[in-house]
Amino acid sequence: MSLSPDIERAIEQRREQFLDVLFRLLRQPSISTQNVGVDECAELCKGIMEDHGISARVLSTNGLPVVYGERYVGEDANTLLIYGHYDVQPPEPYEAWVSPPFEPTIRDGRIYARGAGDNKGQFLCHILAIKMLADMGQLPRLNIKVILEGEEESSSPNLPAFIESHKDLLKADLMFAADGPGHLSGRPVVFFGMRGNLKMELEAVGPNRDLHSGNFGGPVPNPAWKLVDLLSTMRFPDGRVTIEGFYDGVVPPTDYEREWVGKMPYDEKAFKENLGITEFDGPKELSYYDKLMFQPTLSITGIASGYAGKGAKSAVPSKAVLKLETRLCYKMDPDDVFAKIKRHVQRYAPDVSIRKLAATRPSKTSLDLPVSRMMIKAVADAYGIEPVVQPLLGGSSPNYLFTDVLKQPAIWVTYGPHDENNHSPNENITLESFFNGIRNSALVLQRFAVMPKSELGR
Ligand SMILES: [Zn+2]
Repeated sequence: MSLSPDIERAIEQRREQFLDVLFRLLRQPSISTQNVGVDECAELCKGIMEDHGISARVLSTNGLPVVYGERYVGEDANTLLIYGHYDVQPPEPYEAWVSPPFEPTIRDGRIYARGAGDNKGQFLCHILAIKMLADMGQLPRLNIKVILEGEEESSSPNLPAFIESHKDLLKADLMFAADGPGHLSGRPVVFFGMRGNLKMELEAVGPNRDLHSGNFGGPVPNPAWKLVDLLSTMRFPDGRVTIEGFYDGVVPPTDYEREWVGKMPYDEKAFKENLGITEFDGPKELSYYDKLMFQPTLSITGIASGYAGKGAKSAVPSKAVLKLETRLCYKMDPDDVFAKIKRHVQRYAPDVSIRKLAATRPSKTSLDLPVSRMMIKAVADAYGIEPVVQPLLGGSSPNYLFTDVLKQPAIWVTYGPHDENNHSPNENITLESFFNGIRNSALVLQRFAVMPKSELGR
């Protein structure tokens, strides 16, 4: 069962109307990192929601505003929370754009503009679907809440405090978001969580200045060696991390999750060729996707000491700096992991300093929930093709705010094409992706609304 023929027809008839709204939104710059046009865009989003039967207001945060919309029918109805972000990445370099970033242009079946895919052209699909169904008398009894953030492209610095202080307002049975590029094969991706991360900086100090390596080398300690010696205590040669308790709290995937991971496209040879590598990192007995989703990493993301320019220089450096990062899988706690790494450093290199730079908690919604199965089925029916179902993304985002703070399942579907060029020049969404997004939103609204209360929750 797919969408009813009258909804298909309505989408067909409203194409120009849908594009008009999208173009209005895309013409309004909203570059959070430069604070360009953000307040104006928040007002525009509020206006668009109101035009689409959703009462809306602009709410202040300690940074750029959140736009909140609501369509409330009653306590007995299911409640859906829709998340999206109206801010965009800076468009630079301008000269690389074929058409200007804030003048949406259709070429070869694609709408080109900054924000077309990330995320205006995706969250708008929900809003357009809501009004379309309401006009047709086919919007089921359902409470709808919409939260549009204005700082996602600047790492959401104020979203945690905003959500903490609006828990009642944002209470819902499901968080649903459309974001990200789809799979290379053209199939949409449904994902249920993200790894967390923990970023650290370590510093080893040697003599009070760089020294002649002949006149002083030997008796004078070398801070670069201190870091290298320390690093060698953190990992077995096969890739497993040796830090005591590092893997505590790792929750393995369920059988149902394994089943879906088994269906994920995987071409080892093509992956390696694409990256120009001949071997994957260890441990050998773990699969590619296990390492990407269900295991934590310990990565050296930067290391600096001494002279690495042209030719040679003969000096013992006075300082060595290391950037270390771990990706945390479900359900590791960043504070706990940091304490363990710090303990390890104090034990093996007590004079090396370590500090935490940033952290995001991992989060996951179980694939075994009825609402998760409903979503996978709805996407398959809306697109007429089985989606790529991914229990977790390797990357990180504050998805834990929905799963752990608001305590609701959170499910993401990609409405963008795989080559949407998000964060790059010539960002775009295909017309087909945009209209498919509206179809999907309509079907999810209808299917979620009729789920029995007993099947909700987590
Ligand atoms: Zn983005």
